[in-house]
Amino acid sequence: MEQNIHQTLKSVFGYDQFRSAQQEIIERLLAGRDCFVLMPTGGGKSLCYQLPALHRDGVGLVVSPLISLMKDQVDALVANGVQAAFYNSSLSGVQARRVLAELHAGQLDLLYVAPERLMSDDFLARLADIPVALIAIDEAHCISQWGHDFRPEYRKLGGLRQHFPQVPIVALTATAEPHTRRDIIERLQLQEAQSFITGYDRPNIRYTVLEKQKPFSQLRTFLAGRPDEAGIVYCLSRKRVDKLCQQLVDAGFAAAPYHAGLTDQQRREAQERFLYDEVRIIVATVAFGMGIDKSNIRFVVHYDIPKNIESFYQETGRSGRDGLPAEALLLFGYGDIQVARGLIEKTMNPEYRRIELHKLNAMIGFAEALGCRRRVLLGYFGEQPDRDCGNCDICLNPPEMIDITEDSRKALSCVYRVGQRFGAGHVIAVLRGSSGERIVRLGHDRLSTYGIGADLSQDYWGSIIRHLVHRGYLSQDVGDYSVLRLTEASWPLLRGEQRLEMARPRIRAEQVGRKTKAARLPDGVVADEQLFDRLRRLRKELADRSGVPPFVIFHDR
Ligand code: ADP
Ligand code: MG
Repeated sequence: MEQNIHQTLKSVFGYDQFRSAQQEIIERLLAGRDCFVLMPTGGGKSLCYQLPALHRDGVGLVVSPLISLMKDQVDALVANGVQAAFYNSSLSGVQARRVLAELHAGQLDLLYVAPERLMSDDFLARLADIPVALIAIDEAHCISQWGHDFRPEYRKLGGLRQHFPQVPIVALTATAEPHTRRDIIERLQLQEAQSFITGYDRPNIRYTVLEKQKPFSQLRTFLAGRPDEAGIVYCLSRKRVDKLCQQLVDAGFAAAPYHAGLTDQQRREAQERFLYDEVRIIVATVAFGMGIDKSNIRFVVHYDIPKNIESFYQETGRSGRDGLPAEALLLFGYGDIQVARGLIEKTMNPEYRRIELHKLNAMIGFAEALGCRRRVLLGYFGEQPDRDCGNCDICLNPPEMIDITEDSRKALSCVYRVGQRFGAGHVIAVLRGSSGERIVRLGHDRLSTYGIGADLSQDYWGSIIRHLVHRGYLSQDVGDYSVLRLTEASWPLLRGEQRLEMARPRIRAEQVGRKTKAARLPDGVVADEQLFDRLRRLRKELADRSGVPPFVIFHDR
């Protein structure tokens, strides 16, 4: 093929320009080097491997976890005149043999293959005599237990590098926080892989968190306010999906359910009715969404808390693909933490369980955030926006600000004094002068920061530390027992060259009429002790099970 990549972009794919990092990624693959690509859903990851496969000798192998996605992609490629096929368990014997014949005849530019097929001895033996242009691992987070959608069949892909030492490998995913990224690169043994990380921000999506009180009427009010708009309502279980969907239909909304308990036929129908605007609301479990191409989804409601921020980001990201304003509403209730935890507890592997509990904790942190939601969300993926978004519920209805410069310095010094080797629970215990056995054993009761924050509540320190994490003044590695460490940004604050403010915690008694008892909090903040106790217990339980110190957070709004 004597075209340059710009010509191919136009003649095969019909586009005039590359988007963001596409060109750089393609050029790097053409030079035979590995890449790691982190690009939000809809960002244009496919082109990054499809186009260079056409420019290099041999077949481009694409690993993808979902049979239906493979088919869609191959159909689109074939329609553009590309010689593409897929090889997975959905093929009949005859079809499979035809694909293999084409492969051996060198007639394929791109072959989509299921991970377990690719790594089978038979298939690897076939590939021994066939030139391979590149190998693309789509949805690469599936290889990592740290990812939000671990798939055991992806594990074997770790052997690819040995089998194909000379072939460039590109790993692509839409959602991986820094720990998962490192894990993917290690497992695939990518060599000097350059990482391409493109903007995570979806500025047209407005994030709102509401305390879950009467969820159905909260949802109804929300839906009634946007009568002609299409959207998805996510629930954590099939049972909740069925029940809620029925309630909505009874209330006169055009809604359809979607979950893995329905037949293929029923799911296909629900999806199509939604795509063709026959129903405007899909009530679904996480089973719904991957590969859905509907650009005018105007809202995504999480009726229950998602298990982690990756899922939340991905699910809310299905709204507003057309760039027009969209709403992401999370109904957050403490009871749901139990449900989410229950789902995680079902997972047998203890390591996996520990990770998932960490991630759930981070998700709760988002729901409880006192500052700009977008900041928290992007911060989780390692991006630090230079200003608040001005569009989330917190930015639009800002809580009162308090100066936390001095307290932040105390917290940062304490993190430093304990050697940057402990999580929030321990740091807070030292600040508050706890005489716990561990503190004494470690000699942390002799540190200069011991007890310097004894006049303030544990909850207050919890929210200070969370704020410092969200704002990038502390890093908290969920992959390493949530250990707190200073960052570059910590120093100006520690040196007193900078001031810092935080939203005053907004706390509301959960049960109206219950007498509340004032805790030691900054002026004017009143805590509901009972509520705190419940929260504290929940968090502690969560933390115990995940093996990290408890991290107590304010009940916000
Ligand atoms: P991802 O896999 O990152 O979710 P896709 O590869 O499916 O995204 O691409 C999303 C959409 O963007 C597709 O409709 C695709 O055709 C389109 N697209 C990709 N690259 C470009 C480009 N350079 N110019 C215009 N549209 C593009
Ligand atoms: Mg994709």
